[in-house]
Amino acid sequence: MPNTIKKPHILLIAINDKCNYKCLHCDCSPQHISGNKKFSKKQWIKLINDFADYGGKIISIIYKEPLLTIQSRKKVAAIIMTAKKKGLRCGFINNGSKFKNFIQEWPNLKIDFVDFSIEGLKINQEQIRINSSFKSVEESICLANKNKNVKQINLIFTINKLNYSEIKQFVNYFARLNKINYIFDTWIPYKNSPPNFGISKEVYLKNIFPVLSSLGKKYPNRIILDFFSSSFRNNGLFKNIQKNGKKIKLNTRDYLIKYKNFFIRYENPLLLFQEAIIISPQGKIIRREALNKFNYLQDNFGYFKNK
Ligand code: SF4
Repeated sequence: MPNTIKKPHILLIAINDKCNYKCLHCDCSPQHISGNKKFSKKQWIKLINDFADYGGKIISIIYKEPLLTIQSRKKVAAIIMTAKKKGLRCGFINNGSKFKNFIQEWPNLKIDFVDFSIEGLKINQEQIRINSSFKSVEESICLANKNKNVKQINLIFTINKLNYSEIKQFVNYFARLNKINYIFDTWIPYKNSPPNFGISKEVYLKNIFPVLSSLGKKYPNRIILDFFSSSFRNNGLFKNIQKNGKKIKLNTRDYLIKYKNFFIRYENPLLLFQEAIIISPQGKIIRREALNKFNYLQDNFGYFKNK
């Protein structure tokens, strides 16, 4: 029988189990990432070297706020330095509150990508990402844009009922910064979902796709929609995308769909996690079965029958 499980080539690292925001739609369950004995900087360096020797390609530091403390920032910097020495692609996602500290502490660090989670301009950002300050996140994004060692910046915007009508304004606002790409995520329902956050496929077709399309025309190659299979109860919307879009193969395993001037990545979380190794702040491998059992990922696997 052919071996259908591909060798994981992505390492997803959770450095911290804490965050200073309380976002309405936070789906970072503490279940698998909390615990006292955290991996040391030395242990992370060894892990990165082992991952590179094993044939890994990409390291992404994710979950909670990786830049929250001076200790976690030191670990993030050590991971990136080691990864770069080994020729791996490496970056992190952050909420923008501590990036200024990080870049002041490590101004010469070469970073392949910095992702900022942001839900819109001031009002939407601050009402969805509780405790955040739009001004501070904007300053961080500008600093990243100015720093010549940061190669790529992605603004990650989860489309929901509160913010979808602001997409155009949001993109135009940040478009003055030359390194910015926009990654829009379809919102994934999970067990503690905020009420009325979801958007119907009719709204996507009538109100969201046309806006993304006109932005894609204005800003070529900068607009991506991550279409999560579990955001919708049936795949009628994705069938429409497949019918009207053009499939572009990126390599043997990944592809994009060019659809009405913007790009769509179809993300099946089950496959995503199959191809990645996820490590907790304590250095433990977080298995897919565990995620499935305890947190929102149960929805990703098609279990949200009651919704
Ligand atoms: S910034 Fe991320 S981890 Fe922190 S509360 Fe918001 S969604 Fe959760």
